[in-house]
Amino acid sequence: MQFFDRLLLENRAWADDMKASDPEIFQRLHQGQSPAALWIGCCDSRVPAEQICNAKPGELFIHRNIANLVHEDDANVSSVLEYAINALKVDHIIVCGHRGCGGIQAAVSGGDALQALPYVDRHLGQVKRLVAERRPELETFAALSEQVDHVVELNVSAQVERLSGMRLVTDSWRERRAPSLHGWVYDLASGLLEEVCRRDPDGAEAEPAQQSWLRAAAG
Ligand SMILES: [Zn+2]
Repeated sequence: MQFFDRLLLENRAWADDMKASDPEIFQRLHQGQSPAALWIGCCDSRVPAEQICNAKPGELFIHRNIANLVHEDDANVSSVLEYAINALKVDHIIVCGHRGCGGIQAAVSGGDALQALPYVDRHLGQVKRLVAERRPELETFAALSEQVDHVVELNVSAQVERLSGMRLVTDSWRERRAPSLHGWVYDLASGLLEEVCRRDPDGAEAEPAQQSWLRAAAG
C-alpha cells in the first residue's frame, strides 16, 4: 500500500475510533473552536504537539516553524498570534523546543550547512545571533549535541522573552490578564516535556511549576 493510501485509510479508522468514544465529537467541533492554548513548536516530525500531551482536537491552536521562532516581522506567526490572542482569547501560549533540533544544530554548527538552504538560513538569523552572543558559554560544553541542547533552551527562553515584549501580548495582559507564557523543551530520547521558563501576565517571571507537580505526581 502506498504511504498516502495508508494515511487516508487510517483517517477513516481514526474518525471511527473518535466517534466510538465520543459520539458527538465531530458535531461539537463543527460548531467552532475555543482552544485554551496557542502552541508554537518546531516542524520536526518527531514532535507532534497534540500526541505528546494527549490533547484532544479543539484544545490546542497550533503554529509550527523550524526551531519554533517568533518573528514580529513574520506575517505568518504574527497573524497566528493576533488571531489566537484577540479572536480566540487563549489563556496560554506555549513555546516548545526540542532537544536535538536540526534547525538549532545548523545555527550552532555554522559553516556551509545552510548555504544550500537560503530560506532556512534567513529564518534562523536570530538563532545565529544568539549563538554568536553566547559562544564563550557554549564552548564550556564538550560535545556538539550538548551545545545544541543548551541553545535549544536558550532559544525557548528568548522566544518567551520576545513574546513578553510584543504589543499584542502586553495589550492583552492589560485588558484581560492573559495569556500566560510557557517555555517548554521536549526530550526526543525520553518522550518527556520539561518546563524551562514561565511568564505570568503581570510580566513577572514565575517559578516553573514542573518540580512541584512532578513531586505531586510521584506521590
Ligand atoms: Zn526542531
